[in-house]
Amino acid sequence: MSEPTILWSSSVESYIKKISNRPVIGLDRDGVINKDLFTYVTKPEEFEPIDGSLEAIANLRKNNFKIVIITNQGGIEKGIMTQENVESVHQRMFELLGKAGCPSIDALYYSVSSRKDDMYAKPNTGMFKRCEKENPHIKFAGGYFVGDKMSDLKAAIKVNAIPVLVRTGYGLETEKELNKFTYKTIKKRTVIFDTLSNFVDWVVLH
Ligand SMILES: [Mg+2]
Repeated sequence: MSEPTILWSSSVESYIKKISNRPVIGLDRDGVINKDLFTYVTKPEEFEPIDGSLEAIANLRKNNFKIVIITNQGGIEKGIMTQENVESVHQRMFELLGKAGCPSIDALYYSVSSRKDDMYAKPNTGMFKRCEKENPHIKFAGGYFVGDKMSDLKAAIKVNAIPVLVRTGYGLETEKELNKFTYKTIKKRTVIFDTLSNFVDWVVLH
């Protein structure tokens, strides 16, 4: 009686196929993972997670998604903070993620400016391209990029990821902006959730 065995193994195979093909989830930082202070997060104490966001990232990890954080940190070039300051904030974020059950992510990139002519700053795609070059298992095309600003959605579209807007941080303002005629095409492609946690609940079932 081999039939039950075949059924069992094919379902395991399809499960393995499903989890190894999990898309890349790109995440903006401020206003998505931590509360946007509407200024710069310059020290670890100022990193305040949005309710449920760390647990949501842990849930992505448990479900075998590839996770990359891509964040503009324009305060560096403005002299408001140093790269060391930003890295100490990230250290704090990784500690908190670890406590929430997420021992690792795939990569994190930050830009030192938010200038339009900086190829690395979103909405430009320099950070995404560099990430793909340095991490051959990361392909944003077909994945998702979650953010709270128009620059996040624009960058997502440029790398062929599905733009995800969350209503935290600048999200509500961005949602209003999306209704302008100029953003018609971006709006069509964008999926909107209240929080990162709500997005993750949805995406793990897809
Ligand atoms: Mg943001």
